[in-house]
Amino acid sequence: MSKIRLSKSSISKKEQLAVSEVLAKEYLGMGDVTHEFEIAIADYLEVNDNQVATVNTGTSALHIALSAIGIQPGDEVLVPSLTYVASFQAISALGAIPIACEVLPNTLFLDSIDVRSKITSKSKAIMPVHYASSCKGIEDIYTIATEFNLRVIEDAAQAFGSIHEGKKIGSFGDIICFSFDGIKNITCGEGGAVISSDLSVIEKIKDARLLGVIKDTEKRYLGQRSWDFDVEEQGFRYHLSNINAAIGKVQLSRIDKFRSKRQQIAKKYVTEFCSLEGIDVLDFSFSEIMPHIFVAKSSQRNELREYLLEKNIEVGIHYKPNHKLTKYKNNIELPVTDSIYEQILTLPCHYDLTDEEQDYIIESIRDFYE
Ligand SMILES: *Cc1c(COP(=O)(O)O)cnc(C)c1O
Repeated sequence: MSKIRLSKSSISKKEQLAVSEVLAKEYLGMGDVTHEFEIAIADYLEVNDNQVATVNTGTSALHIALSAIGIQPGDEVLVPSLTYVASFQAISALGAIPIACEVLPNTLFLDSIDVRSKITSKSKAIMPVHYASSCKGIEDIYTIATEFNLRVIEDAAQAFGSIHEGKKIGSFGDIICFSFDGIKNITCGEGGAVISSDLSVIEKIKDARLLGVIKDTEKRYLGQRSWDFDVEEQGFRYHLSNINAAIGKVQLSRIDKFRSKRQQIAKKYVTEFCSLEGIDVLDFSFSEIMPHIFVAKSSQRNELREYLLEKNIEVGIHYKPNHKLTKYKNNIELPVTDSIYEQILTLPCHYDLTDEEQDYIIESIRDFYE
């Protein structure tokens, strides 16, 4: 068996054609295709067009959203330690302090009890992370946010296409950030988006993504530039190009297929692992979420990992907790996160994974335990 990849983009002739069309027009930067992609996202999420702003990465989505709500140096943002370093970097980029919190053992979602215990007078926002595409328990986070008057920036980088309590993630909540990087549920190559029903936030972001040039977004949609412009606020170079948006538009049109395939893979792992002592799965509804990664837990994680790598099966660990990184180390102790970090293993899950490949992965795991 040749190497089985952990994750990958799935690119058809349609994406290739869409990119070729942008190239042929020789208008590669942010323009009409970026606007069309935003409208398509709004249609998909069943929100208004003016609630959506695309950006060039998921990390910039988080950074620009935090900036738009006025996060200042010294402000505290509560975030699970068990997340990609992007969540932490987006907070510290503004001089704010990421306060590393615990996650719940069954879902690896932000632990609201720990969040509550870490709120101070400097707390300004909570950043729950939709780990492995689920936000089960997010109601508890919104309850605390309301009680303490905090903003919520959802790091939903992994959760585009997921449903929570019958509603699409992104269609409810305060501020929701998505990533469309190369391996996410849909990709632009690189890309991201911020969704909010707070239109003042989206308006700020639409200027801020173009270096703060006021109303430049509308000009760009029309293929024009601003010459006599003004700038009032700090901005960034975070807009999404026509090339990247063209890929995203096609990917979005394929999402139903992507979604059911990822769910099918996850459900098969769950069924198979039920009868296997030694390996645990997370407490998710795989009919609702669109799993970006499939994470299992094993007390023999390191041995299992070595075993699968030798069998040419690429596996991952999502993530090394941020409170263990030099930049974010302090004296904080997170025993639940530390223990989970020793157990988690991410197995291949992507649209092009074949039945044969998944059977081989499952067989190999059975062999390891038997
Ligand atoms: C992918 C990811 C990001 C960052 O998105 P990019 O588009 O890669 O910048 C942030 N947070 C989480 C949890 C992610 O998985």
